[in-house]
Amino acid sequence: MNDILPLTEEQREIRRVAREFARAEIAPYAAQWDEEAHFEPSIVRKLGELGFLGMLIPEEYGGLGLDTTTYLLALEEIAAVDASTAVLMSVHNSLPTQMILDFGNEEQKERYLRPMARGELLGAFALSEPDAGSDAAALRTQAVKDGDCWVLNGTKAWVTSGTEAGVILAMARTDTPHERHGGRGISAFIVTPDMPGFHVGKKEDKLGLRSSPTVQLVFDNLRVPAANLLGTVNAGFTYAMRSLTGGRLGIAAQALGIARAALEHARRYANERQQFGKRIRSYQAIQFKLADMATRVTAARTLLYATAAAKDRGEHVTQYASMSKLLASETAMFVTDEAVQVFGGYGYVKDYPVERLLRDAKVTEIYEGTSEIQRVVIARELYT
Ligand SMILES: Cc1cc2nc3c(=O)[nH]c(=O)nc-3n(C[C@H](O)[C@H](O)[C@H](O)COP(=O)(O)OP(=O)(O)OC[C@H]3O[C@@H](n4cnc5c(N)ncnc54)[C@H](O)[C@@H]3O)c2cc1C
Repeated sequence: MNDILPLTEEQREIRRVAREFARAEIAPYAAQWDEEAHFEPSIVRKLGELGFLGMLIPEEYGGLGLDTTTYLLALEEIAAVDASTAVLMSVHNSLPTQMILDFGNEEQKERYLRPMARGELLGAFALSEPDAGSDAAALRTQAVKDGDCWVLNGTKAWVTSGTEAGVILAMARTDTPHERHGGRGISAFIVTPDMPGFHVGKKEDKLGLRSSPTVQLVFDNLRVPAANLLGTVNAGFTYAMRSLTGGRLGIAAQALGIARAALEHARRYANERQQFGKRIRSYQAIQFKLADMATRVTAARTLLYATAAAKDRGEHVTQYASMSKLLASETAMFVTDEAVQVFGGYGYVKDYPVERLLRDAKVTEIYEGTSEIQRVVIARELYT
């Protein structure tokens, strides 16, 4: 298909670099990593060397200082080959680095952003808890000031890259158990795994994204220096929600990459597979599937990159970010399901990549706000 997007030379070049990297360094191993639920640490180093872990960080802090569109183009390419690597890249760039950049003080930026941009410190984001998912403001991890430290107690759930992360942006309550203030009683802390009281808990055994480690983090009298409070006390939930607008664009790019890959595999297979003496692409039932898949991928791509451009112009994109994530993730589910159908029985086994794409697609409808929560946000914004 022709490229419908008006891209600059630089954007095309970075997309080409990302595509070649993904094909050479990730594609040959993605199925095996998925099978073995293996996280490959060298990928973080390689992404760091390319600058892909500091794409949105300004050059003065060691990043590439690129715009959102360019970042998402690279992310889409990585996701088209391996959604697990893409989520690592999306979370790192969109959430912890962005939170430090937007809300951190100069000392925190100097200390963390350079090694994060180089891939020496991988970032994670710890908002969810076992009993606080969609209703994240109900989180219970408690932070209490003790001298020049904050002492945190609680369990964070579903932390992407939690086993590998060198910097975790963790949200905890700074109101009191006697006087709760919902989201306005939560602060953000820069946590590192060497702090006393930090423990990695249960590792999740997942349907998809199997080579991305998702874990609980247990804070048992975790002592966080007061200097590692991000911004001001009780503002952490607002910081997390603002960063999630950008995060949702990252997940939309991930979903788009998965959908695009499934379409391409189905397109090629339909051209090769013969039944009843003809290539199956000659049957209208298959043609219509491919047409619907291509149309939805193009719609999701167009909305995503229009939103990215609006974000870079400084416009308010909360609603469009939710729409982009909703459309891209539901497109990924539709397209991967249809791709398995085009492959028939071969789509249901691990000899071809489409069953992995289907398993990986599902989570894009769940994390960084489920599809139901995206609809809540979209509907709410219709009245603001
Ligand atoms: C692989 C993976 C990686 C993740 N990575 C991270 C991470 O790095 N950091 C992090 O903080 N979290 C992470 N998460 C957590 C993720 O964001 C939550 O799973 C998600 O927000 C949903 O929360 P929940 O699982 O508790 O589901 P629940 O909130 O319990 O939802 C259950 C169902 O109820 C629906 N529902 C809930 N409330 C409403 C409502 N008001 N209106 C309509 N429907 C509603 C939901 O849409 C869903 O269908 C990850 C999750 C997964 C699976």
